[in-house]
Amino acid sequence: MDELILFVIAAFTFGYIGIPLFRKQKATTMFDGSDIDLTDLESRKENILEIIKDIEFDYKMGKLSAKDYQEMNQKYRTEATLLIQSIEEMKDSQKPDRLEEEILRFRKSLTQKSCPQCGNPVLPADRYCAHCGAGIDNSGGKE
Ligand SMILES: [Zn+2]
Repeated sequence: MDELILFVIAAFTFGYIGIPLFRKQKATTMFDGSDIDLTDLESRKENILEIIKDIEFDYKMGKLSAKDYQEMNQKYRTEATLLIQSIEEMKDSQKPDRLEEEILRFRKSLTQKSCPQCGNPVLPADRYCAHCGAGIDNSGGKE
């Protein structure tokens, strides 16, 4: 009789822990995908933080051994750290001032003049080509 009860408890415990673990694993192994955007990363980070919370809860409830808890905790924390880093990097590259810089650089490359004589690039303020010395007309250069 006792054995049956133990078996039921074991099956229940195993099933209870096993299913969420499977779900969690599936959620995090998708991280290697190439088409990742910021919202994707944010939701994955939320997901992993949720898992870390779950693991802590399970551990406190005695459903996880200390060893399992530490292993999993470590694993998900590393993953969360990586995700947070990626998010920061992605956010950083989307900063408006970076964008402005890019636009400015692009505009500069458009307005950059070249010497009518030799074709070498010259600064907009230059009156003579530094390469061949030809005179450059700056009167019509401004918009
Ligand atoms: Zn020149």
